[in-house]
Amino acid sequence: MRLIDMGINLMHPSFDRDREAVIRRAEEAGVSPLIITGTGVDSSRDASCYAEQYGKNHSPRKLYATAGVHPHDAKACGGDTIAMLRELAGRAEVIAIGECGLDYNRDFSPRPVQRQWFEKQVELAAELGMPLFLHERDAFEDFSGVLKNASGRLKNFVVHCFTGTGSELDRYLSLGAHIGITGWICDERRGGHLGALVPRIPPDRLMVETDGPFLLPRNLPQTAPDAGEGGGKKRTPKSGRNEPAFLPHIVRTLAGALGKDAEQLASETLANTLRFFGIE
Ligand SMILES: [Zn+2]
Repeated sequence: MRLIDMGINLMHPSFDRDREAVIRRAEEAGVSPLIITGTGVDSSRDASCYAEQYGKNHSPRKLYATAGVHPHDAKACGGDTIAMLRELAGRAEVIAIGECGLDYNRDFSPRPVQRQWFEKQVELAAELGMPLFLHERDAFEDFSGVLKNASGRLKNFVVHCFTGTGSELDRYLSLGAHIGITGWICDERRGGHLGALVPRIPPDRLMVETDGPFLLPRNLPQTAPDAGEGGGKKRTPKSGRNEPAFLPHIVRTLAGALGKDAEQLASETLANTLRFFGIE
């Protein structure tokens, strides 16, 4: 099984002590390349620089990055934010604009400020002809309105970590969105409704991601052969940390919900991800 983790927050501090081992474990599990999510100007620059440096010693390229500002951090944006993102977007390893969007669940930034910087990043993606990596929580109406206005000018866009309702899913699909599924699907309590919805996603619009270190799959076996340096030893996640090596487990769970062969699902999502991001 070969997969791409299209959403991994690899620059998160919880990976500081063993980032290279995390990449190696992913590769051993068939998960390569990884697309590092940029969530602010600094984190996007860190992601881009790390991917570029890592690429000097590893060919073909194993790391890519996105460049964007998460709605949580919209309040930190200023007059030079878009110019800095535009500069990052020109780098070889940067393949999408985002993570950007709206999050009315936490409201870490005021809603009008979130909307302002979401719209600017959508415009940047349209201007550059780059894919968009999108985040939406409890903000469906405003969020889909922004996308609807821009969808004709956008290359393509993915709603990452989709956890919404059936009617939201249908509207996203009618706007032309790709859908990102995480280990949320592995949580019987929270993800049960998602399992019933995923068959509505056309096979060529579906992509997978861990969103690590967040969203550790709840049904991950206590011993996972692909999940630790000691292989088969007790998994680390005392910390609850999720990582790209767990993506095959998510795909197997998703395949169960779809009633589909896991290998076939893996090759479909791989092809979608390569095409979506324009990876050679
Ligand atoms: Zn997100």
